[in-house]
Amino acid sequence: MKGRIHSIQSLGTVDGPGIRFVVFFQGCPLRCGYCHNPDTWDYKGGREIDSAEIIEKALRYKSYFGRDGGITLSGGEPLLQSDFAKAILVTAKESGLNTCVDTSGCVLNDAVKDALEYVDRVLLDIKFTTNEEYQRYVGCSLDKPLEFLKYLNEKNIPTTLRQVIVPTLNDNEENFVKLNEIIAKYECVDDVELLGFKKICKTKYDDMKIPFPFEIYSTPTKADIEELKKKIKIKK
Ligand code: SF4
Repeated sequence: MKGRIHSIQSLGTVDGPGIRFVVFFQGCPLRCGYCHNPDTWDYKGGREIDSAEIIEKALRYKSYFGRDGGITLSGGEPLLQSDFAKAILVTAKESGLNTCVDTSGCVLNDAVKDALEYVDRVLLDIKFTTNEEYQRYVGCSLDKPLEFLKYLNEKNIPTTLRQVIVPTLNDNEENFVKLNEIIAKYECVDDVELLGFKKICKTKYDDMKIPFPFEIYSTPTKADIEELKKKIKIKK
């Protein structure tokens, strides 16, 4: 099965547990103000590749993956190409690889549900905790990732919630109250990652000759993020 990808990272350490082979899919319907990969947005961009070739490449690194590592489908939005994602995931599982999907949770249909049958862990972004912010800074309703999370919970799929912290937007008390409510409601959530907003992607926007919407925001320090992590209430 062929699909379009932006790039591959052979030995990634930030997209799921352990060391992972990360496949960045091409295409995303959202427009997050802090998007690090605006060059993945265009569905027609990137390059075409066969799912078998991806698995063959991933298996070359199998000895590095250890007990926790494996393959992660990221993007862009990997679940937009749901059949292609499923083809990779099925073969990955057959080959004994742990599978993760890093998603915005904006698309949930029968084909996506089918692909999720072969996923060991979902990394789900809850980018903001109000619908107004979602509409304004992401481009969809907050209901979308919440519906997705409800489904993951029904299917008992272990889930890591992720949130990029943008000072003055979501580093406030209300956000953490709401985030903790979401964490408490869904038992499948066993991990939460707070990531500091960064601006290193600005050059990509410059190259594409489009404005970087979040240029005006400051970046949090590591100490700021560590302090905010203390506000997360999660049962381990
Ligand atoms: S969902 Fe991800 S790839 Fe899509 S715009 Fe948002 S940050 Fe970028």
